[in-house]
Amino acid sequence: MPTGDGLLARIHPPLGILTLAQARAVAEGARRYGNGHLDLTARANLQIRGVSEATTAPLTALLGAVGLGDTRTDGGPQRLTLTSPLAGREPLDIPALARAIEDMGRGVPGLPAKTLVAVGLRMDEADLSVLSLAADRVAIVAGTSVWACSSTDTPSAIGALLTAFAATGKRRMREVPPDTLTIPRHCQQSEAIQGGGPSANVVPGLSSHGGQPIFALDAPFGRCTVEAFERLIAVAETIGAPEFRLSPTRGIVLLPSHPERVRLADIAADFITTADDPRRAVATCTGAPACASGSTPTLRDAASVADAFRPLAARGLVAHVSGCTKGCAKPGPADLTLVGREGQYGVVIGGNPSDTLSLQIPIEAAIERLGRAASVGLAAAFAPASIDIGRNRRPA
Ligand code: SF4
Repeated sequence: MPTGDGLLARIHPPLGILTLAQARAVAEGARRYGNGHLDLTARANLQIRGVSEATTAPLTALLGAVGLGDTRTDGGPQRLTLTSPLAGREPLDIPALARAIEDMGRGVPGLPAKTLVAVGLRMDEADLSVLSLAADRVAIVAGTSVWACSSTDTPSAIGALLTAFAATGKRRMREVPPDTLTIPRHCQQSEAIQGGGPSANVVPGLSSHGGQPIFALDAPFGRCTVEAFERLIAVAETIGAPEFRLSPTRGIVLLPSHPERVRLADIAADFITTADDPRRAVATCTGAPACASGSTPTLRDAASVADAFRPLAARGLVAHVSGCTKGCAKPGPADLTLVGREGQYGVVIGGNPSDTLSLQIPIEAAIERLGRAASVGLAAAFAPASIDIGRNRRPA
């Protein structure tokens, strides 16, 4: 798709997993045919920017040769499912179920490209979530509707729901009135599932899950250089990790067979390796100049925001530096949202980028106010006040 710096190629690795050979091909593609950077997305996909009309074909061939080509040409989702980067160790075979749902979804015409089925976890962003109730029984969640069925019947039940959804012409399942979706065959209406289901998020650093060592890294603001990506491939080889498992935290999870060989210092300059890194609490998009819709350098500004946001991040607050009202990096609200506008930032407290802006200020003023927010709170620190008169502008 076209962006401010050429074409963007989005890669949808099956199950969000890249073999190291596939990872090398992605790095080669980004270096030869892109701008030398890789984006890691919140849907566990990868993006190469800076592609041109002339380099589209060789990049497509390079990726297709390692099994990373597109899977459908009808405009539907290239990968329908999202699974946890740790999927594969549960009593219910989550990867097999996700593959079966993918097969079913490819046969549903008219499915919007952004349709998402979270398998083995619940995500607010997903149209449908499939949660494990037992080794052979699942709950299918669509908004406030919950159905229980056997894991064997789940792909056909999901297929029926997606077919009904596609027929509405809506873009997201949440826009469909609940009574439009009838109970799929072999399913029963069920009670609401307590809790949010298992999280897809894995904390950065070296830890273990069910006895399996895990080395998890997040890409700062979802971006890394090809060189950093290649250094991580070398680390994976050293520690005996056979693949990159992409995570919705815009990161990569490695399952090392030699965890004693992990040296955080080898990779700490390139990736987030600690849970308390404030960059984890700040979402941002590519912004200007790469995206034509942006007027502010969001990646650079988000780094300054993250520094100033540290005490608030430690309290569990989150921020969003968005290049424009579209809010690509973070669907939903944040405690503080800065929205790029005419080279400055509009401010939204506790809302979305498309909400009404309380004031519009340069990034320097936003950082200054963030310094006060730790003691007086975000709402007070960002209240329109005399301090900005003469230096900052209110929205028109
Ligand atoms: S939020 Fe706006 S500026 Fe940022 S990537 Fe999306 S469209 Fe571009």
